[in-house]
Amino acid sequence: MTELLPNYVAGRWQAGSGAGTPLFDPVLGTELARVDATGLDLPEAFAFAREQGGNALRALTYRQRAGLLGAIVKVLQANRDAYYEIATANSGTVKNDSAVDIDGAIFTVGQYAKWGDTLGDVRALRDGEAVKLGKEPVFQSQHLQVPTHGVALFINAFNFPSWGLWEKAAPALLSGVPVIVKPATATAWLTQRMVRDVVDAGVLPAGALSVVCGSSAGLMDALQPFDVASFTGSAETAAIIRSHPAVAERSVRVNIEADSLNSALLLPGAAPGSDAFNLLVREVVREMTVKSGQKCTAIRRILVPAEVYDAAAEAIGAKLAGVSVGNPRNESVRMGSLVSRAQLDAVRDGLDALASQTTVLHDSRNKPLVDADPKVAACIGPVLLGARDADAAQRVHDVEVFGPVATLLPYRDLAHGMALAHRGQGSLVTSLYGSDDAALAQVALSVAPSHGRVHVVTPEVAQAHTGHGNVMPMSLHGGPGRAGGGAELGGLRALDFYHRRSAVQASPGVLAALGL
Ligand code: NAP
Repeated sequence: MTELLPNYVAGRWQAGSGAGTPLFDPVLGTELARVDATGLDLPEAFAFAREQGGNALRALTYRQRAGLLGAIVKVLQANRDAYYEIATANSGTVKNDSAVDIDGAIFTVGQYAKWGDTLGDVRALRDGEAVKLGKEPVFQSQHLQVPTHGVALFINAFNFPSWGLWEKAAPALLSGVPVIVKPATATAWLTQRMVRDVVDAGVLPAGALSVVCGSSAGLMDALQPFDVASFTGSAETAAIIRSHPAVAERSVRVNIEADSLNSALLLPGAAPGSDAFNLLVREVVREMTVKSGQKCTAIRRILVPAEVYDAAAEAIGAKLAGVSVGNPRNESVRMGSLVSRAQLDAVRDGLDALASQTTVLHDSRNKPLVDADPKVAACIGPVLLGARDADAAQRVHDVEVFGPVATLLPYRDLAHGMALAHRGQGSLVTSLYGSDDAALAQVALSVAPSHGRVHVVTPEVAQAHTGHGNVMPMSLHGGPGRAGGGAELGGLRALDFYHRRSAVQASPGVLAALGL
């Protein structure tokens, strides 16, 4: 029997009372550990976090809590090697792809530690200046942001067991709000291990950080009005979360990061072989292959002027042909596996769903795997699809194949290209490629309403740009509509979610005594 990973709630490690759900190595097929949350007293767990964790965190200032984040960074850095081993075994990712999750998390916590320090030794934040409520300034209104007196529940997706925890926990803890994280079952081990290390290091007050591994049953039921819930995952589960009584009746604030049909758009005039064309090709290949395409921000739709469609297909296909796929422990492997056989089935189903509306432009599905058994490993080579009639291929704008798959689509003119980008019904990110600053700026403004982030790649930023799919803590993460309507990160803007806005109406003397 493999180890049953304990949960950490109500200030103590507690094993579930059931047999547990096994976690697997998606390349070797071996069982690694089990998770189970059966029998946990969730009302007790939430009350402990809310009261003990919340009171202890709120007793500190922003600067002191920033110090806690700094201490977390040290703990995570000290245990980094173990995290890479877990990611290789449980997520099937090569080292560079594990880095996106692990080092991306450490970097993000470090950023919030720095930003938090600038907020100083206060326990509430001023929101704008005081304004007079009458003719004379004797009675004024001062808006404040105060930490919510609740717990932050995170229900996370399988593809970022590390970053998914810390990109949410850093702003929550900095805000003075305790965290309960429920990682996706398939990859819960890394999240659980990181929480274990931070708990064992004793750097946080009791109740500030808890982890529940296994079923989500009962978690949403435990939420009360001042709690917040942050969900990352599929649109189907998001719909269940949104309609839960905690949200619908108790007004629990909820943030949803769901799936997204992100696009890359090559502006007109970029000839095959030009810098802009080559930058698009490089980024598309990177996005299709990093984490085997299991990134919510990955490019799914590639929009190019009709006259370069064939050249783009050839250039992207040529690069994809050079991508080695297989066991991430073999250093010659560039792309590891999907997270599970179930995910492999989902990718195959997605390809089937797109088959009638697309043609296959490049196919590495039958390429031999390196050091991996195709009957066991959840590996699949990249597939580039194409649809010459981008308008008619409705499913391409609707079906997210969560793997190394993207579809090339030609557009007639720029207006058509932008209309196709909007067909994603709201996306996390689009990237634009070209060399005319004025034209790129106009397109950026036009597509911004349906995208949380617009990533513009020009030849002069070829080396400096941070990557279409790479979520930087300085920039907003989240998109409207189909992408879930969420908003995370964006520097200190992330703190808004964990604060309540209140207006104190009083004399200038009282307002000055607030000490902000
Ligand atoms: P999922 O199946 O929706 O699961 C997400 C989380 O919800 C898991 O922790 C899951 O737990 C939990 N869950 C399942 N049913 C639930 C219920 N009835 N009530 C409460 N929680 C429930 O999604 P996934 O397959 O893990 O993730 C892939 C999807 O996430 C993709 O569509 C991707 O685009 C999206 N994603 C979006 C972002 C973003 O930031 N926008 C980031 C990453 C991924 P179990 O694992 O135990 O079932």
